[in-house]
Amino acid sequence: MKPFDARLLRYARSIRGFLARGAALGLLRVASLVGFAWFASQAIVSVVESVRSGIAPESLAANLLGLAASVAVRAISIWLVDANSARGASTAKSELRTASLSAIRRLGPSWLAGRSSASVTTTVTQGLDSLDEYFAKYIPQLIMTALATPILVVIIWAQDWTSAVVILVAYPTIPVFMILIGWATQSVQKKQWQALNTLATSFLDVVQGLSTLKIFGRAERQSKRIEQVTEDYRSRTMKVLRVTFLSGFVLDLAGTLSVAFVAVAIGIRLIEGSLALSVGLFVLLLVPEVFVPIRQVGVSFHAAAEGLAAVEDVFEILDEDQQRAQPDAAEAAVADEAPKTSGLVLRDISVSYGDFVAVERMTMTAASGALTVIVGPSGAGKSSLLGTVTGLVPHTGTVLLDGRPVDADSPADRTWLAWAGQQPGLVAGTIAQNILLGSSQTPEQASATITQVLADVAASDLNPALELGPSGEGLSGGQAQRVAIARALFRRIDKLSRVLLLDEPTSALDSVAEAAVIDALKRIAAEGVAVVVVSHRQAVADRADSVITLNQHVGTTTR
Ligand code: ADP
Ligand code: MG
Repeated sequence: MKPFDARLLRYARSIRGFLARGAALGLLRVASLVGFAWFASQAIVSVVESVRSGIAPESLAANLLGLAASVAVRAISIWLVDANSARGASTAKSELRTASLSAIRRLGPSWLAGRSSASVTTTVTQGLDSLDEYFAKYIPQLIMTALATPILVVIIWAQDWTSAVVILVAYPTIPVFMILIGWATQSVQKKQWQALNTLATSFLDVVQGLSTLKIFGRAERQSKRIEQVTEDYRSRTMKVLRVTFLSGFVLDLAGTLSVAFVAVAIGIRLIEGSLALSVGLFVLLLVPEVFVPIRQVGVSFHAAAEGLAAVEDVFEILDEDQQRAQPDAAEAAVADEAPKTSGLVLRDISVSYGDFVAVERMTMTAASGALTVIVGPSGAGKSSLLGTVTGLVPHTGTVLLDGRPVDADSPADRTWLAWAGQQPGLVAGTIAQNILLGSSQTPEQASATITQVLADVAASDLNPALELGPSGEGLSGGQAQRVAIARALFRRIDKLSRVLLLDEPTSALDSVAEAAVIDALKRIAAEGVAVVVVSHRQAVADRADSVITLNQHVGTTTR
């Protein structure tokens, strides 16, 4: 593990300020430590002198005052460091969380489809929370190690170089121990993080598939599996704790022994009389402080490692998003010389999932005012092709609307597009709320339009006020599909969209409802909209203005 990842500075800008304040507070802390040692040793020496000589101690009051002042400064600096860390942690976490959420949004569902949403969720929530410890303990101590240790060693050297030499010899044992322990813990730590992710993923899997598992009589076995994963997580946690305690002990031992060496060397020279009491005391008070920061770094190392492991996953998301954000200059140049076609043009579109090419160099036009139907067998790449228009599927080639390339449009800018996917994609809430998704109208304002679009899809019998459960529970497959189409039709009206895109809209409908939907689509096309429909159904293809067949590329793979 690197002690500090430079990407933190790039992705969470507030950290610069946090580090600068941390360094300033570190200096204040060093000053208070030196002041404390100085005034304490002076006060003690003056009392000893006065006892020996019988004269009242001089400047004792001033020294005690200085002592009290440095204790106060030290307390204040500790408090400020804590406040700075707490604030730094929460700001950085919120910056990283916001950045990763918007990166995930930009990367889109096709990216999310490639990984477990539970594991992404764990990373963005609990994972980032484990940065608390990193900021609260690890970083401040790291700053102190880099700042305080050299200053203190130089001061000690100036007072008594013998002690400084002993420190310089003993000091490196601590980092050496730390590195050895670090090697041992790194794999334990990583496995711990993986175990947590496995736990989250298995749990989500089981909950989502509960009804399937029940029907196939496998629910019991799954609860055993969850138990197993949980047990595994527990035993790993204990292992991490064991290693943490052990390494804390080893580091303390090394630190204590080093201080003891210096103390013995000072003691011997005090007895011999070759060292002044004031110098000996001053150095002796400072020596432990030299070893404190690095020991603390060691102690908080494990907590920090967990935070950094999680942040690593967040960085992966952010890095991937940044790579994709590089604009494709070549594509833009091609678009400039394009003749202006009214409607949607897909030029030279290819879609790959890893090595698998789902769509290869496809070019097609869906004119404004026409109903364009895309046909082809399952797996031909029809949904992938539509995905390049919604912007959810990464692709090469250019999508043009009225001659303008739209590949770079953000989801929020795609008001020109109304779309319904192959899955209805309904959410918890009323039917009206589902139809109004993405609109700023209230159900009351939109009630006439909602009635109209429900009629368009032959679903006038559905009550817009009907509450649906999560994932649109409470409707039949055909009803859900019609609500999804109605949502796209509503958006087309609400946003004056130029393109209406429907993926297998009538697959679950009877022929009467299907005919009604096709009528509505023809009417919408007649208003000048480019209507693009993917369909297997002959009834749909029969009434198309243009039919595009997609089948050439089934199962082509590169290499
Ligand atoms: P269609 O809609 O014509 O049935 P799709 O566009 O859904 O076809 O899929 C085309 C091919 O790409 C299929 O072989 C499918 O397995 C594959 N595919 C689709 N989505 C993904 C994905 N997210 N990851 C990997 N392969 C995918
Ligand atoms: Mg499909």
